[in-house]
Amino acid sequence: MSVPAQEMMITKLRESRSLLLACEAIGWLHMAGKAHPDFLRHYGGAGVSYEPKNWHKTLMPAWSDRLAWLRLPKSKVPLPDSLAKFLEEYDKQSDGNLVGFLQAAHAMASGIEKNLPSSTSLYLGQDITHMWLASPFGHPVRNLLADPPPALAPGAFESLLERIGRLLDDLHKLAETAAKDAHAWWLWREAAIGPDGWLREAFLSTLAETRLPNNDVTLWDQSYVAAALFKSAVAGALLAECKEWTNLKQQTRWRVLTIGLGSRHYEARSVKIGDWAGARRDIDGFFDQVRRLIEVDLAVGSLIYRDDETLAFTFPGLRFDATSQDPKGSLDDTSAEALRKAIRTEVEKHAESRKFETPPLTLLSDSTRSFIGIVEQLRNAREILAIPLHRTWAVPEHGPAGGHVCSVCQVRFNRPHTNDRTDNARKQRVCGVCADRRRGRLDAWFNADGDTIWVSEVADGNDRVALLSFSLDIEAWISGDRVDALRSQSVHDWRRFNAVLGEYWVRDQSKRRVEDNSLDAKSTRDSLHKHVLEVLRHAATTSYKLNQTQVDLILGNLQEGYRREESLEEFFSKIVEDRSGAPEWGQLDDDARARWIIHQLFRKLPSPGRVYRFWRSAETFFDELLLRFREIAAAHPNRWRTRRLLLEPGGNAGGWDDRETYAGRLGDAPFEVLFRADTGSFVTICNLARCLDAEEAERSLSGRSVEVKGDDGRSRTLSIQRVHEPHKIAAYAPVIPLERSPQRFRVLVPLECAPVCIETAMEKWQEEFGRVWDRMPLRTGIVTFPRMTPFQAVIESARNLEADLTETKPEVWRVHGCRTKDGVTALTLIRCDRAYETVLVPTALPDGRDDVFYPYVRVEDRELRDVRDFQHPDRTVYRHAAALHRGDGVVVHPSRVTAVFLDATGRRFEKAKSWYLSDFGRMRDTWDLLARTAPSLGALRGAWAELEERQIAWRNADGGWVDGASEEWIELARAVLSNRLGVSGAALEHLTEAARDGILEWAIEWHLGWLKQGMED
Ligand SMILES: [Zn+2]
Repeated sequence: MSVPAQEMMITKLRESRSLLLACEAIGWLHMAGKAHPDFLRHYGGAGVSYEPKNWHKTLMPAWSDRLAWLRLPKSKVPLPDSLAKFLEEYDKQSDGNLVGFLQAAHAMASGIEKNLPSSTSLYLGQDITHMWLASPFGHPVRNLLADPPPALAPGAFESLLERIGRLLDDLHKLAETAAKDAHAWWLWREAAIGPDGWLREAFLSTLAETRLPNNDVTLWDQSYVAAALFKSAVAGALLAECKEWTNLKQQTRWRVLTIGLGSRHYEARSVKIGDWAGARRDIDGFFDQVRRLIEVDLAVGSLIYRDDETLAFTFPGLRFDATSQDPKGSLDDTSAEALRKAIRTEVEKHAESRKFETPPLTLLSDSTRSFIGIVEQLRNAREILAIPLHRTWAVPEHGPAGGHVCSVCQVRFNRPHTNDRTDNARKQRVCGVCADRRRGRLDAWFNADGDTIWVSEVADGNDRVALLSFSLDIEAWISGDRVDALRSQSVHDWRRFNAVLGEYWVRDQSKRRVEDNSLDAKSTRDSLHKHVLEVLRHAATTSYKLNQTQVDLILGNLQEGYRREESLEEFFSKIVEDRSGAPEWGQLDDDARARWIIHQLFRKLPSPGRVYRFWRSAETFFDELLLRFREIAAAHPNRWRTRRLLLEPGGNAGGWDDRETYAGRLGDAPFEVLFRADTGSFVTICNLARCLDAEEAERSLSGRSVEVKGDDGRSRTLSIQRVHEPHKIAAYAPVIPLERSPQRFRVLVPLECAPVCIETAMEKWQEEFGRVWDRMPLRTGIVTFPRMTPFQAVIESARNLEADLTETKPEVWRVHGCRTKDGVTALTLIRCDRAYETVLVPTALPDGRDDVFYPYVRVEDRELRDVRDFQHPDRTVYRHAAALHRGDGVVVHPSRVTAVFLDATGRRFEKAKSWYLSDFGRMRDTWDLLARTAPSLGALRGAWAELEERQIAWRNADGGWVDGASEEWIELARAVLSNRLGVSGAALEHLTEAARDGILEWAIEWHLGWLKQGMED
């Protein structure tokens, strides 16, 4: 398509902004009635009758009047005769107007979850005493009626309605007055549904569906995703000048638009932490601009995923029944590609204005009805982004030739300062762009924009810092693979609670066919397989066409849409092909088809709403962890640990550079300040707990002089005359979050706080991911280093550790014991290293029912044993945690931890030893025991020196023990611990065991070597 055609598409989208954003708002609101607590009470059996579709009837002025402006003569899209149809018929059969797209979007976002007929899923209901909102990993988050969130408090719904009214009025006003002003629209949208938006906040705290186990997706997830899909579908219809409005619900598809920037290049080139923080800020700012472009300016889609390098948006797709000649009113591939190019041009303009050294990427997926392909596209994007110049790109503001190349970006020429005395000082200067990036984050800091940005403030009493990197294996969940292990129902329970099946869809009750459930209650699983296979074989004689005059009662009661299907092939395409990575119908025989149909009918689905929720949950996990880390790092007996001071120099304040840092020593302690020309004073940017005692007053610094050096390498004296509290930035938490994406969280903390931070993360992970402990590993990388270690070495080391951890392969652990008590199953497992590990898996719901939805593990077996066991069509067997027996082999994706101490920067190339994460707890316990039992630090050092010496002597060059030495060394360890430290009894057994496993050595290295921990003598 030609360039003018591309521009025309962009223009058309901008001209339709009001309509598209109105559609999105309708999408957010279409289920607003569910935000009323009576919705929960009604389904909780409280005898309250509540119709969630009636909420808009109390709006004054009415919904239809408030949106009447949509019926403008220039609007080319068919609207329903009553605008209330958006709110009343979103879950009905397809309408031939705009409502049809909302129906399609609603079905994609939540309809596929609710295709359970209500009559046969009654037993899955929650009652008013236990109306839980759960995490997507089964962790009960809140009992919504017993402990209501603010959004469900008395009167909250009425004020919600008021705000909704205002939202609609503002929408109308914007449509009339500010249609062309994208910024006004952006503010309107962000206020409602941005990170702190009121509508988002309210809908996040309650449910769209009360039945188990769909109580894991909030009203927000469903509404937001439906709105995003609705908006994109309408945008597609406008661009394609859609004239065919039939079967929208069944035929509409979407694409995914991915936009990325290779942020890891900026990270790898950062010399100082400020370079990375500055680049990260710019990249985040750029991502926000892109979001604004796609979501508001063009209003063509909405964000459904974001990480450190990529953004994914909904985008109009090609209809399912389109042919190469006829797109049937949807956006064909040529036009989609033209629009992608036009968007690319816009995106690149933003990247140029941010002066990025590398080009952004704009990718479009094929048309789809599920988002499970999103992960493949993100991987593809990351691969392309791994090449810095994956397409031609002129580096903005290249700068005049001559001088040195900038030490950060390595592409522009730098700008030496006039003060620079040595060639080395000149070489280290950065270019204008990199200098601006450093400055940009300083500006934010002066305005108290969050945490500290100074490593010198993070450093602990020994001048040491830890970079903690945590990752969750979230991609495997978003791609749907791990969701295979989650159930929406147990086959056994479904049969048990539905002994009789009927034609619930026949209105006249007296005419309904009612029969006993034909599945054998004793072997339901086999019986169901046999049944579905029979249905398939029978239909095979008529090319899989279905005669629905007599609907199969089993399938008709398992899936609401089944009775309307005209062929099993079509049913298969919707239930299986559309929602999984299954082979196509044509590649399978009837037996395999039956297996797939059954698997899909009983599993939880990676629906768009749930995929979106996976993303958000992983981010929330890290956000909450950061809050805890702030508290941990800020808790210090010396209040100066978290304070800053403003120092006024005596005499002439000239000769200091604005916003430059100056470092020296105050007594024994490292001391660092930043000069601000506007106030002619210095702000401390170091750990003041090392300079001042807890009870000392700030004025004790006045009158003192410090020798300091700046970046120019010159030494000079800072005489402190007066001391104040600085404005806005007087206090801080000594943590620096470096990165927070759904996959990974990196943060700098004082090394002395690192163990507690790690233990906190482990506890939180165990609590929230206990049901999926085997499939959602928490991987932890720890880089500990002295404050002055170059940032590049630290970050490279972190990346090496992370890469090692990513390589972690699944392992088979053997069950040693399995005991269930009070709703918790305690599994004792024998790991690959022969050590025992105990895992606590919650296997009951808060209301006491068995949790048959989440706690399944993959087992080595190919045979089904327990009634709750189930088999994936690829033959993998999943078993309920409480049904495991001694000897069962469980496939585990282990949580591991790797740590390194960068006492020399060369260490970053060494392969660090990796441990099971639970061993970190064992290591800490071992230290506690040592600290309690050893008579003194000196005695412990002496004892360990003896053991270490023998250990070195008795090992080969490759690190292995010489023959028989290993047992002898352990005996020696026992003797030394007993004789030199006086340890006996159980403590001696424990410590000898720890010596055997290497845990003792780890405990001593970590606490004596890294933490420089003392001991009470
Ligand atoms: Zn540069």
